[in-house]
Amino acid sequence: MSQQIGTERGSTDALVQVRNLKTYYDEGGLFGGQPVRAVDGVTFNIQEGETLGLVGESGCGKSTLGRTLLQLEDATGGEILYDGEDITSYEQDELLSWRRNAQMVFQDPESSLNERMTVGEIVREPLDVHEWKTDGERRQRVQSLLETVGLQREHYYRYPHQFSGGQRQRISIARTLTLNPDFMVLDEPVSALDVSVQAEIINLLEELQAEFGLTYLFIAHDLSVVRHISDRVAVMYLGHIMEIGPTEELFADPSNPYTHALLSAIPLPDPGQERDRITLQGTPPNPRYPPNGCPFSTRCPARIRPSGYQDLDEGVWSQLNTVREVLRERQRADRTIRERIRGSLGWETRFGDMNDTITELFGEFEVPANVQEILDEVARRANENDEEAALTLLNDEFGSVCDGVDEDPEQSDSELQFYTVGSTDRKSYCHRHDSEYREPGPVIEDRSIKEHGE
Ligand code: ADP
Ligand code: MG
Repeated sequence: MSQQIGTERGSTDALVQVRNLKTYYDEGGLFGGQPVRAVDGVTFNIQEGETLGLVGESGCGKSTLGRTLLQLEDATGGEILYDGEDITSYEQDELLSWRRNAQMVFQDPESSLNERMTVGEIVREPLDVHEWKTDGERRQRVQSLLETVGLQREHYYRYPHQFSGGQRQRISIARTLTLNPDFMVLDEPVSALDVSVQAEIINLLEELQAEFGLTYLFIAHDLSVVRHISDRVAVMYLGHIMEIGPTEELFADPSNPYTHALLSAIPLPDPGQERDRITLQGTPPNPRYPPNGCPFSTRCPARIRPSGYQDLDEGVWSQLNTVREVLRERQRADRTIRERIRGSLGWETRFGDMNDTITELFGEFEVPANVQEILDEVARRANENDEEAALTLLNDEFGSVCDGVDEDPEQSDSELQFYTVGSTDRKSYCHRHDSEYREPGPVIEDRSIKEHGE
């Protein structure tokens, strides 16, 4: 692993170049609260003719990213260069004509087709919008496209309800092809289909790509589908790209602890095969309140420990993380007026006593005296409803570079700095890649996932 740090700028002749892109929802909303950071500073390229797979747990921002790339969603910050031009600065009419180049296929073939229009009307709508040639030529084009996607010319006069899920997805795909696009965002295009039909649609997409030289962003949570179709894969977590690189190497030898955890959730074809399973604890944090430091720090099995706690029991270490999450949860929970009154009268609030929570969390472990002492003080501060002070203490004592210790929150931008990893052009964000922290750990040391037959 080399030590090169940077962002995934790469070559500047890529068809799509995304630079520190952010898409926030509810910004400056009604309650003036924190925005939802759905996409929070991503940088990557998509080469012409390439398929970039985008994977990650539900809610990590995949659809938002795909929609923003097509400007169906406004970017909060950053740039999207398409053929070298920043489309985020386009006016409405420029955007309309640009959209001919770029189309989106959605997951749900049930709701994405207008039931009251014939297949012909649905597919030719983009031609009508762009006033392409004559009526007769439009019909000709649509009928030949229906054949291209494996349907028949006669289907022009039928209605969507007469078709199966797979056929409906073919209709959607035909519609996206009408204006000869170069780039397509495929947002879970086969997730709603039967497994047998999935393969047919995937094959169709591959054939169309070869025939028309299409460039794909392929979003999916089914990793085996992504592995099959993608040249490169980007792994997304909490609005960030954690690792990006050529598919085979990334699947066979993931570098990022999150990629590792995500891949170890795939069932192996042969149950006799061994894989050290990294189970992911808990759920991803709320994107309205992302953690400081590394986005994955709250669940990461490879989180760096500060000196003095290297030998702390794994269970205790992991529960300390849970205490922090409980405090973060308490901190932002909106207390009702009644609870505030009860609190001010010194009565117990709905959060209960933090001592009880801690006893429950650490009950089965042997907690060293010095750790217990800190936990008692953390509980005392939390019981006084000063979660902030409790969190500060917890972070001062147990935090590390992964938790953004030493990071100036005012200064830091949410764009992550990648390390170059592996033997091909692969990038990963993880402090474990830094030579200072690269001591052997269960996740970083043994990363190989044994292939069938190896
Ligand atoms: P994915 O496609 O990976 O499941 P999404 O891009 O749909 O993720 O969502 C990312 C985050 O943004 C989620 O927390 C989701 O709840 C939130 N989100 C998505 N759309 C909106 C919206 N229109 N308004 C507010 N929040 C949204
Ligand atoms: Mg989605």
